[in-house]
Amino acid sequence: MAKYIFITGGVVSSLGKGITAASIGRLLISRGLRIRMQKLDPYLNVDPGTMSPYQHGEVYVTDDGAETDLDLGHYERFTGQATSRLSNFTAGRVYWDVLKKERRGDYLGRTIQMIPHIADEIKAGIRALDGPDVDVILCEIGGTVGDIESLVFLEAIRQIGMEEGRHNTLFAHLTYVPYIKAAGEVKTKPTQHSTARLREIGIIPDVLICRSEVKLTEDVKQKLSLFCNVPPHAVIEEQDVAHSIYEVPVVLSEQGLDDIIMVRLQLEKPPARLDGWKEMLRTLIEPVQRVRIGVVGKYSELQDAYKSIFEAIEHGGIPHETGVDIEKIAAEDIEDSKDLERLRDCDGLLVPGGFGNRGMEGKILACRHAREHGVPFLGICLGMQCAVIEFARNVCGLEGANSTEVDKQTPHPVICLMEEQEKVVDLGGTMRLGAWPCTLRENSAARTAYGVAEVQERHRHRYEVNNGYRERLEAKGLVFSGQSPDGNLVEISEVAGHPWYVATQFHPEFKSQPMQPHPLFQAFIGAALQHAKRNPAS
Ligand code: GLN
Repeated sequence: MAKYIFITGGVVSSLGKGITAASIGRLLISRGLRIRMQKLDPYLNVDPGTMSPYQHGEVYVTDDGAETDLDLGHYERFTGQATSRLSNFTAGRVYWDVLKKERRGDYLGRTIQMIPHIADEIKAGIRALDGPDVDVILCEIGGTVGDIESLVFLEAIRQIGMEEGRHNTLFAHLTYVPYIKAAGEVKTKPTQHSTARLREIGIIPDVLICRSEVKLTEDVKQKLSLFCNVPPHAVIEEQDVAHSIYEVPVVLSEQGLDDIIMVRLQLEKPPARLDGWKEMLRTLIEPVQRVRIGVVGKYSELQDAYKSIFEAIEHGGIPHETGVDIEKIAAEDIEDSKDLERLRDCDGLLVPGGFGNRGMEGKILACRHAREHGVPFLGICLGMQCAVIEFARNVCGLEGANSTEVDKQTPHPVICLMEEQEKVVDLGGTMRLGAWPCTLRENSAARTAYGVAEVQERHRHRYEVNNGYRERLEAKGLVFSGQSPDGNLVEISEVAGHPWYVATQFHPEFKSQPMQPHPLFQAFIGAALQHAKRNPAS
């Protein structure tokens, strides 16, 4: 039976709880433990699939087609292990499932209550990760202690703590220790309050992980230990890292966090082996050269909307010992040609996925710029659709070509709704989702990058290249180098004769990891480096 580590957050949100949880996962794996990770979200949406990027950031897609929280992306990138639909659920999903059971009569007329029924459903969702091949389950509770919605989640993990016993459960509380500039001091009071709220519920944290902008003195750590009832050596500091989030596992390990976990959970494993990880970090921190990649998206101001894309771009530089400067360019700004200059300064351009028509013409202009100027290009999902539209309009002369998503009346619907999508009414969980196979054409840039004939990649879309236009596009040099095995769906398009112009209907960014950069991102950055060498002025 697996042991449990629960990670809660206090004081404020956005402390990087997901990165901390993922870092603990990395440490346990480095000690030879078999783990599963999970994020529970106390909000009421059934899943984040229908939420706006302004509210929620990126929607991360698993192999088995769940639309999930972006923290699962951190879990996969830090641990190298795939997550699944069991790895994320929300309060909305829990209530939904309980109410469905109630309607079916499963509760035999009993009164349905938060405790035990909702708490039981949450516990079942956590325990569902257990299995013969799991040593430790790491479960992160979203939100901040003190929120009304989180209460029943905290109650559920308290109960698991009681059921499993002291040596099978560990509670880690991530908190914020602010530095007050005017007083020149750090303050422990907010942390005292948030641990007090936890104690009210019946949870005494075993480990305090303190996010802070400055180094914590021994005095401060002693004070936190005393007031929060945590042994002094279990007060761990997580100061802002200087270069990369991938430094966090090292920072935590240096303070003995994984040893504390081993002792507390009575696990006997050799010390963490972080050599490979540190080697990767060294390249990230001290690259021998740099390239500039422009990301032309709808949400250029949002850090979280393209999380996995930004990470994957950075990973792509590692094998080339190359650091990447990412230029976030708002597609709308290109439309009124404000930012065209910025496109010219880039060694490579990426157009990410998206929905709706805002910024679409700007993205299409970016595709054109890359194609006409031999700039390495990676288009993803909507980015591929834009690349196909651009090619249809400007190379094939199909004036007004478009996607029916943005223009239902277009004379040339080169991108159209997939047949199976035509009858879909509900928005949630109804796209073509998750991993699907893709066969690669010989001698294509994609095949060269992957080095194999078939791959599995994750999808999240309703629209597709219209097969009725394939011949016309191919005749002018658009190469459909990746297709579904039955040949029915275009998965990858390339422009023949261009140094590197690859666009995918799927999302390669979800599978990229710092220890295993995605082949397409690696090839894309490689091509951008070549481009920079050819065009030193750019
Ligand atoms: N809106 C497009 C579609 O549904 C692209 C989706 C995406 O980029 N994830 O096909």
